Amino acid sequence: FVGFTGACIDIHDRKLALERLEQQEGQLRELMHVQKRFVADAAHELRTPLTAIQGNLDILMRYKNIPEADRKEILSDVQREATRLGRLVHDMLTLARGDAGIEFQEEEVNLTQVVQEVWREIQRMHSGHQLDLARLPQVVLTGDRDRLKQLVLILLENALKYTPGGGQVGLSMTRHATHVEIRVTDTGVGIGPEDLPRVFERFYRADQSRHRGEDPGGTGLGLPIARWITEGHGGHIWLESEPGRGTQAIVHLPLDDFQAEQANSGTESH
Ligand code: ADP
Repeated sequence: FVGFTGACIDIHDRKLALERLEQQEGQLRELMHVQKRFVADAAHELRTPLTAIQGNLDILMRYKNIPEADRKEILSDVQREATRLGRLVHDMLTLARGDAGIEFQEEEVNLTQVVQEVWREIQRMHSGHQLDLARLPQVVLTGDRDRLKQLVLILLENALKYTPGGGQVGLSMTRHATHVEIRVTDTGVGIGPEDLPRVFERFYRADQSRHRGEDPGGTGLGLPIARWITEGHGGHIWLESEPGRGTQAIVHLPLDDFQAEQANSGTESH
């Protein structure tokens, strides 16, 4: 009798183990599928600038008497495409590090300072937009300073890239009981409802940003990196947008218990 029950348990256990194995196999297959697609997409994205560089260099080598103005234009095309290639490789390496499970630093980060630093950099580089920085609360949290800086930079650069000159780009930070909210707003081209659910996919770029008169030269990897950083800090990120009116990128980052306790006693700074 004891032996029989033992056998029943045995079979039950084995069934469970098999089911678990099948489940893991399914997950592995899905992961491999995602990886394969990433490699295929990456190869495609890398080939475009590479082909342009090769084509232009071919022209320069083959024809001796190219007028100076045309030669300059060709060289500046080569330079632009090489820059794009560099950016793609850099972004792909960042995501590969994420996939490899590289850990984030855990240091005390003054988020207010980080935001102010990024803002100053943006102000130096962009004069064609109206830039509004709201009054910032003091926020300190545990995280990776460089990555958090990169996160804010990606969101601000997107806001600027997809907002025609003269438009507004704003940033605000609000401290709540358990989390801090960073909000980057713009009055740019916006994102259609068919694109909005997909903008966090690797290499995904909405039609209006690809086909605008001049392509602002994105890689389609900014938001996936932004999401990797946010989620690596235990937070959430999403976009809200109205085509033709503008976009808001919202990030919620959890505060440490101690910081959350201090939430009501901080001072404001600008
Ligand atoms: P990219 O390098 O192309 O900007 P991202 O991953 O950062 O790549 O963004 C993906 C796509 O989401 C962009 O190509 C663009 O179509 C859309 N997008 C992102 N941010 C904005 C924004 N602030 N306004 C309008 N479209 C945006």
